[in-house]
Amino acid sequence: MAGEPRSRGLLRWISKRTEGGSRLENALRRYAGERVDLGLQEWIAYAAVRLAVSGALKALGIPRERVVEALGDPTVRRGVVNVLEGIAYYGVRRPQVTAAPFLVVWDFTRMCNLRCKHCYASAAPKPDPDELTTEEAKKAVDEFAKAGVVAIAFSGGEPLARRDFLEVAGYAADRGFYVAVATNGTLITREVARKMKEAGVRYVEVSLDGLERTHDEFRGVPGAWRRAVEGVRNCVEAGLDVGIAVTATRHSLGEIPKLLELAERELHAKRFVVFNFVPVGRGKGIVD
Ligand code: SF4
Repeated sequence: MAGEPRSRGLLRWISKRTEGGSRLENALRRYAGERVDLGLQEWIAYAAVRLAVSGALKALGIPRERVVEALGDPTVRRGVVNVLEGIAYYGVRRPQVTAAPFLVVWDFTRMCNLRCKHCYASAAPKPDPDELTTEEAKKAVDEFAKAGVVAIAFSGGEPLARRDFLEVAGYAADRGFYVAVATNGTLITREVARKMKEAGVRYVEVSLDGLERTHDEFRGVPGAWRRAVEGVRNCVEAGLDVGIAVTATRHSLGEIPKLLELAERELHAKRFVVFNFVPVGRGKGIVD
């Protein structure tokens, strides 16, 4: 129904962003029980949203409280707005085109404390001279918010190597983003894990490229495996949602079943992701 021309026209009007923000987002905030000051047009948008949501809930047999609770989460709301704006502007498609990218993977720095053979970023011990300052990084977060992006995954380089990582990640979380971090795990002490949780980081993905010997040989730094595993334990202890990521190469392939067992039984990771090897950056040198 949302894809019909008349409904799309209405949805496009409701989705319009004014000085007071997106009418649609304001209507959903109000629906979720937030106190939002609405002008006349926003009230009309809210009434239309309320009518449409009530009709859909009745048809699907979903209790209103569940939707109110879900829409109370700014990340969920941002996701709903992104999809509905996509329908408003591009129609119903398969796969659906959203108004803004759902996820931005942000190479936050090129600096890293490891020297992996397969590093796509060709990371180095020092940051690039033209990396964003803290204030510029926050402005970038504002731009992502304005565009309607839902989630930010901090990557790199090693994002935790930047001193302002927690500050910028916390800023993004406060702005309603789902915040994730892809890390080598070696810098995650108990305190860092606790601070990440407090800052609003929701998901931490730690790379392990095999069992201890293989990983350390591949990552170029002895002890990297032990510190990464400790980092995973610290994250789990702090209540963070943790995933283990493995890049499949001929070195790690045979060890993946044991890694999976370790991730599930000993480390209590919630996800286990196997990436294919992409020969870019330093990885170009180990294609064989
Ligand atoms: S840990 Fe990641 S960023 Fe650092 S060298 Fe290895 S692959 Fe590159």
